[in-house]
Amino acid sequence: MRKRFIAGAKCKGCRAEDTTYVIYGEGEETLHCVKCDFSEKKENEVVKSIVQEWTPIKLRDID
Ligand SMILES: [Zn+2]
Repeated sequence: MRKRFIAGAKCKGCRAEDTTYVIYGEGEETLHCVKCDFSEKKENEVVKSIVQEWTPIKLRDID
């Protein structure tokens, strides 16, 4: 699984910036926030467009 932080993204849960990251799982991608329990499943095409618009600030692999 990969975890990528999204620069400039504002959390829909707590409205904090730069706390949102995407986890790339098998066949699905989900948005999460490090400051609250917000999570949202995204369709692949939607996530790809978001990642292209936003600049990743950190890329970290977790096993
Ligand atoms: Zn949040």
